[in-house]
Amino acid sequence: MGDGRTNPVSFWKEDDRKGDRVVETATLILDTPGCYWSEKLGCSMCGYNNNVSRAPVDHVEYIAQIDSRLDIMKDMEYIKIFTSGSFFDENEIPLKTTHSIIKKIHDISPRSRILVESRPEFITEKAINDLGTLHDDIEVAIGLETTDDNIRSKLIRKGFTYDDFIGSAEILLDKGFSLKSYLLMKPPFMDERNAISDMVRSIRDLIKRFPEQTISINPMNIQKRTVVERLYQRGLYRTPWIWSLTQIIMEVEDILGDAVKLMSSPTGGGRVRGAHNCGKCDKMALDSIQRFSLSQDISQILPPLDCCESNWMTYKENEIF
Ligand code: SF4
Ligand SMILES: [Zn+2]
Repeated sequence: MGDGRTNPVSFWKEDDRKGDRVVETATLILDTPGCYWSEKLGCSMCGYNNNVSRAPVDHVEYIAQIDSRLDIMKDMEYIKIFTSGSFFDENEIPLKTTHSIIKKIHDISPRSRILVESRPEFITEKAINDLGTLHDDIEVAIGLETTDDNIRSKLIRKGFTYDDFIGSAEILLDKGFSLKSYLLMKPPFMDERNAISDMVRSIRDLIKRFPEQTISINPMNIQKRTVVERLYQRGLYRTPWIWSLTQIIMEVEDILGDAVKLMSSPTGGGRVRGAHNCGKCDKMALDSIQRFSLSQDISQILPPLDCCESNWMTYKENEIF
């Protein structure tokens, strides 16, 4: 039995794109024991598990967490259930609990898309086989971060390879699940120019390998008690410019198609710990990226403005790690 953790960590509603429409979305973050990898080695940018109690959460508590927001999720078209870890890790959430969660959401919102997250090692036929029979629109997000194994292992310490990701993505697609890939923009020990080229190459690699998917560009957001925070506090790291994100989206425009959705919703955007520009143009630049993410219309992207374009260019040319 757990210790009475019957409330989710957080719950909110926002707009997101589903297929060719913008729909209202519910996001629920479950209170869980957290990601096993953060205890083992931990990714260099991840502070999700800083304040997590490692004590197990039992089936009854998980179901109570879901039940507490069930009314609000009723008939919603896009429902995101996050765990700050892996939905398919049985040490975090028992298999029977994942089934009950999906079934409960199906019963109140049968036409919804349900998004969950997992590291690739937990995406097995055993974990997902029966889920597909309970609900037919499940999307699974994997934090691949980059298609370069060297960067992922040395700078991010992610602990899995691109091939591991490909194997898991194939299982998902084969079973009729949808794929969402998270890419991390500007890991620690990387300069702005390399961050842009790493992201552009990763997007191209991913679309070539899996032409039907959602790709989310996640610019670095400095979280507490992480490697990135230590570098930042010593003046050795600046979060990416929003103009760099703009440049990336404009550079891959030629390969975006109906089956690929490219989006970005920078956490902490416009603040010093998130993607930011000079302060004056941040909101305009972020709004344009939000409009692009919802519409997939490249004409919504605001090209770099005079106010700080030259500072950004100079920064890109001179930053060396
Ligand atoms: S980024 Fe994901 S895989 Fe890495 S430690 Fe955090 S929750 Fe775990
Ligand atoms: Zn500016």
